[in-house]
Amino acid sequence: MISLRGIAAASGISIGVAHKLGKEELNVPKHAISDMDIPVQIQLFEEALIKTRREIIVLQKRISTEMGQEEAQIFDAHLLVLEDRMLIEEVISRLKKDKLNVAFIFQEVLRKYISVFSKIEDEYLKERIADINDVGKRILRNLLGEERKGLDELKDRVVLVAHDLSPSDTAAMHKKNVAGFVTDIGGKTSHTAIMAKSLEIPAVVGAEDATLKINQGDMLIVDGSLGIVIINPDEETLERYHTEELKLKGITEKFLAVKDLPAITLDGNKVEINANIEFPDEVPAVKLHGGEGIGLYRTEFFYMNRKDLPTEDDHYHAYKYVAEEMNPYPIIIRTLDLGGDKFLSQFQIPHEMQPFLGWRAIRFCLARPEVFKLQLRAILRASVHGNLKLMYPMISGVGELRQANKILEEAKVELRTKGMPFDEDIQVGVMIEVPSAAMTADILAKEVDFFSIGSNDLIQYSLAVDRANEKVAYLYDPAHPAVLRLIKNVIDAAHNADINVGMCGEMAGEPSLALILLGLGLDEFSMPPQVIPELKYLIRSITLKQAKDIADEAMKLSTGEEIEAFARAKLMEILK
Ligand code: PEP
Ligand code: MG
Repeated sequence: MISLRGIAAASGISIGVAHKLGKEELNVPKHAISDMDIPVQIQLFEEALIKTRREIIVLQKRISTEMGQEEAQIFDAHLLVLEDRMLIEEVISRLKKDKLNVAFIFQEVLRKYISVFSKIEDEYLKERIADINDVGKRILRNLLGEERKGLDELKDRVVLVAHDLSPSDTAAMHKKNVAGFVTDIGGKTSHTAIMAKSLEIPAVVGAEDATLKINQGDMLIVDGSLGIVIINPDEETLERYHTEELKLKGITEKFLAVKDLPAITLDGNKVEINANIEFPDEVPAVKLHGGEGIGLYRTEFFYMNRKDLPTEDDHYHAYKYVAEEMNPYPIIIRTLDLGGDKFLSQFQIPHEMQPFLGWRAIRFCLARPEVFKLQLRAILRASVHGNLKLMYPMISGVGELRQANKILEEAKVELRTKGMPFDEDIQVGVMIEVPSAAMTADILAKEVDFFSIGSNDLIQYSLAVDRANEKVAYLYDPAHPAVLRLIKNVIDAAHNADINVGMCGEMAGEPSLALILLGLGLDEFSMPPQVIPELKYLIRSITLKQAKDIADEAMKLSTGEEIEAFARAKLMEILK
């Protein structure tokens, strides 16, 4: 029995036989063509592009109805590749010059693109390589008249094992024949991981040499919650996981039964359970899963997959829609959090050695007040349509907060001058995601209406672990005593100043850690919509006193591993 550690991409347990998916190698012939063949080859190329476009649109529609708009939007990037004039023109000009068949030329151009992009150290561009590869393969297949051996043709229910899976591969999966999957590469926030979560297929990504260690037909246990893969487990382990798997299935039903009830502990203390969204069209999913508000609206995604910059009215209409749809529930709009691993082609951001420590989020906004103020005006204007709050990302100290508020005041003056109404009492909060902010939370608390802890970044900055780097992912430990101490400091400072404190990082939606957070006194939990029913069930199954005892015990332990194991055992007791 061997076990591998990877990154927990989609929670749940799956047990099944390994089905290894090799890299798809297409056999592309190379042959000379005559001048007369050139128009025919160009036509072949155009037809392949049209066919590919049609295929992607069909796939996108299917994903949109089965999984939701957000997942379907992933294919917008694929459609953009098909419209890339540079790529198309290069193929045609080389075809005319080299006089070789178009499939061969296209493959060469594709390889060149991928090799140029691969040399650039940029997470966003790395994602684009996956898109180009994915679409490129589709075009090639259509040029060669070959059909993809689809994942939907799998006969038995298997655990897929692959070096990497493209979003197209993931989209072609069906729960009925894919029990779980394991990949060598990829991070928690890769498109493939996002899709796995929506499909509710347990998945472990970034399990390094999984494809070398796992053989076709091996029995596998995929623990998508802990990021563990067990190869050929012994009887006892198999039995233990079988029991856990059955238990998990049974309790999902129980979770759904309480999704529309309030999150009140058994001794009558209410907390807020909110959702994180990236796009306005996720609002129906929030409501469907019983979300009581939006604790984080990541507005930077609004800038992606478009060539121009959104106008003030574009922003306003998006925020107005969310405000009206969610009314009277609160929505926390986070201002532009650009940089780190999120780059937008509309802004010329110089390449940096350490982008997560560089010109990011509020730092960028304070340096580009015109971009910032445009967004602030739009949020203010939309505030009359519902319960909007605004929040600044990556604040490191009170100085930045004051500068941001100064620009907010200017935006308010401009609107007043124009006679445009807005909520004069709009609440303003900060994300606590930099250790310096966590340590000075008492100072910040005096000048804001609320805090929201951005644990994704707080963990990376306090433990010095790049959140996007799979090589150091084993050190990325939400339960580390240092992280819990910082969080406790923030919660205590907020309560001393009589303000609300929430958390919108992934940690808030991790049930075992949520127990500790509840015990530490967190007021609001914001998470991906799919996790809400479970969290509500959990909170309704425990007293605040019990949670406090769990938090007290956890704070006495020495390592993240011990804390995680302790909290998980408590969770199992509560959920049994
Ligand atoms: C966080 O850092 O926890 C957070 C919610 O922000 P993001 O993941 O968008 O950086
Ligand atoms: Mg963050």
